[in-house]
Amino acid sequence: MDYFVDVILPVPIQNLFTYSINKDEALFLKKGMRVTVPFGKSKVYTSIVYGIHTQKPGAYQTKEIEQILDETPIVTEIQINHWKWIASYYMCTLGEVMKAALSRAFLLESETVISLNSPFEADSIDLSDDEHLVVEALSLQKQLRIQEIQSVLNSKTILPLLHRLIEKKVITAKEEAIEQYKPKTVKYVSLIPKYNSEQGLKSLLEELSNAGKQREVILNYFQLKSQTGKNISLKELQEKSNVSKAVIKSLIDKEILELNEIQKDRVQFYGDINSDQTQLSKHQQAAFDEIKKSFETHEITLLHGVTSSGKTEIYVKLIEEVLAAGKQVLFMLPEIALTTQLIGRMQRYFGEKVAVYHSKYSINERIEVWHNLLNNQSKFQIILGARSSMFLPFQNLGLLIIDEEHEPSYKQYHPAPRYHARDAAIVLSGFHKAKVLLGSATPALETFYNAQEKKYGLVTLTQRYADVKLPDIELINLRENYQKRKMKGHFSDQLLEAIQHTIDKNEQVLIFQNRRGFSPTIECMTCGHSPHCPNCDVTLTYHQSKNQLRCHYCGYHRVMEPSCAACGSNQIDTKGLGTEQIETELKALFPDKTITRMDQDTTRGKHAFEKLIEGLEQGETAIMVGTQMLTKGLDFRNVSLVGVMNADNLFNHPDFRALERSFQLLLQFAGRAGRTEKQGKVIIQTYNPQHPILQKVVQHDYIGMYQSQLEERFQFKYPPYYRMIKIIVKDRKFNKMEAASKWLGLSLKNVFKENVLGPEQPPVGRIRNEYISHILLKIPKNQSLVKSKEILKKIENAFFAVKEFRSVKLTIDVDNF
Ligand code: ADP
Ligand code: ZN
Ligand code: ZN
Repeated sequence: MDYFVDVILPVPIQNLFTYSINKDEALFLKKGMRVTVPFGKSKVYTSIVYGIHTQKPGAYQTKEIEQILDETPIVTEIQINHWKWIASYYMCTLGEVMKAALSRAFLLESETVISLNSPFEADSIDLSDDEHLVVEALSLQKQLRIQEIQSVLNSKTILPLLHRLIEKKVITAKEEAIEQYKPKTVKYVSLIPKYNSEQGLKSLLEELSNAGKQREVILNYFQLKSQTGKNISLKELQEKSNVSKAVIKSLIDKEILELNEIQKDRVQFYGDINSDQTQLSKHQQAAFDEIKKSFETHEITLLHGVTSSGKTEIYVKLIEEVLAAGKQVLFMLPEIALTTQLIGRMQRYFGEKVAVYHSKYSINERIEVWHNLLNNQSKFQIILGARSSMFLPFQNLGLLIIDEEHEPSYKQYHPAPRYHARDAAIVLSGFHKAKVLLGSATPALETFYNAQEKKYGLVTLTQRYADVKLPDIELINLRENYQKRKMKGHFSDQLLEAIQHTIDKNEQVLIFQNRRGFSPTIECMTCGHSPHCPNCDVTLTYHQSKNQLRCHYCGYHRVMEPSCAACGSNQIDTKGLGTEQIETELKALFPDKTITRMDQDTTRGKHAFEKLIEGLEQGETAIMVGTQMLTKGLDFRNVSLVGVMNADNLFNHPDFRALERSFQLLLQFAGRAGRTEKQGKVIIQTYNPQHPILQKVVQHDYIGMYQSQLEERFQFKYPPYYRMIKIIVKDRKFNKMEAASKWLGLSLKNVFKENVLGPEQPPVGRIRNEYISHILLKIPKNQSLVKSKEILKKIENAFFAVKEFRSVKLTIDVDNF
């Protein structure tokens, strides 16, 4: 009998691919193991086994697999089922989902770039001859493509060897575009265990009776240990004992003390675990009880708790219970980089049970987390991560928490799979029969709708922790202020007064402006010319600090010329307002205060973000100006004033969610003010103080916003009443793009009639030299989503059967909002 294996390949093909195997292999292989296979003319790939069978494929001659990499599956059955769901729901291939789910280090292929791990001590690891050759080649060349290594070794089957080297932590696979992250480390000292007993210590002190300083160090070590119970850093011990490093080093050399380097913000944590120290408040306890009650009848529950109501402590208590029941927890956050505070809090409670899973961690660390979960080891029971953490191999998930579930960054737009991590993770917890808790002060409209429809349970927390009052929100009418000349630059007198008042009391201020850069656009006063990006249909943004004009879509930049490129006039004016300009104005107004700025430009460097946060936490910063980044779940004790420069530009987005998003953003931002005792103050400058959404913001009226928006969604056929699929057509030739999108639009309208919108050019109609057009497909509730997708798929196939359309780029984005 002939045996075959179907594998998932990391290449853009629609289906699984089949290879021949022998009987032994058929008996050995299991779903979820890796095998390396040849594909195409000369490429090799690592693939994942999907199934073993005896049916010869009709369409092609099967090749043989190269090698089997694993003895047991590295991917679980549940994961593969979850991948299947994602591929089918978001209309992409299993290979695309697999690539998003698995680190590149698991999936070597001919094109992968390999480099040596540093620091790497070649002598300390046993290497075969071939492995040595690879290491030598890499130490000469720094990095090599796998294809190149193949020719060095003159062998085709080298993927298994490379995978072995990765497991041995000798080499690493590069993931493009990801900056390698080197965590800070701290050196800890500890006593060699045999001295830890009373007897051991006694004989040690005797042994050291002639070495006074060393004896002193040991005594200090014990004192520190009994005071704090924590691990003791080298620095601490040295300072406390007031000795030179050499004294401690000699103790290490004598093998009395040992030195360990621990990454400061990494998975391990050796501090105290002090979960019993916090007591839930009356309101928190009530919410906690309600959540548990709700879980009896609902798998999914929404915790709608105002900002600073203490949702995190409630999560902590829930996690404790799930851990006690021996199950794993996935705690998802919108963006890890922005939540160092929360990570710290979780680690304080749960110590090394917490693993942080983050694209900024090195591949080796991520692989470690993977293996730990796969083998259900006790170390990592709580995973804290952004959207990709739902791809980890959970064995026994008991609880999924999605914090700030309304955050847009849970949606992946590019590349495929274009999934929404909240929704996809909910499906995952279904496979595990795990409970789901969604948390937000401003839930997504769809989520709140599901709660209203009783699909989700709902628990509400309206009190801030310690009964701190919600901030007082005031609207300032910019038009009136300008007329009455009550403005300095872009600041109203009221806002300036409030700032002055706040910093006089040594409290801090946050100022929000939703655009980065100096003045978003430049305009010639003589001829009206504005410089545009040569690759995209947008005007360039002026960045004063670098004296550059930049495109925020493709990164194009050039030096800002003092005169107009069109007519040569040097009367150039700036329009609009960016963070950099606000910062400059504030520095002129408050010259002796520290003013910082948080936006994409100032947070690029490795620890730039942490530094900015530290500045605020430690009270150095008086005023911080920032974009959306400022609004995300930060908890600063001493911020009592929050200012919004201009609310209006939030509303003017051509997006059905613009008002909902504005409301969420403003209320979340307002929530940063006055998180302890005193009531915080929020000042929002606007030209439209009567705008219904702003009125709802002032009243903290989420329900009011929800009801009015829901009505609009109904009227204009948007979610949650309709589902949406967006089709994006791109081509470098305008005419081709236009013909292609017309063709598609007509074919879709033939079937879906008035529920097809477009084709239509988006506001930015060309990006990176590609012309773009959008078609929106709306699917009413009573129409089958599965059938609609099948039809769409058929139309897509017919589209690519047209010869001149073959080169057109087509993107299908399900739930594109
Ligand atoms: P939310 O996530 O709902 O905005 P947080 O969980 O950040 O609110 O809590 C707000 C503040 O109140 C935090 O500084 C937190 O440390 C504090 N806090 C919340 N609950 C408790 C509690 N039970 N005991 C002590 N402090 C608490
Ligand atoms: Zn001009
Ligand atoms: Zn551009």
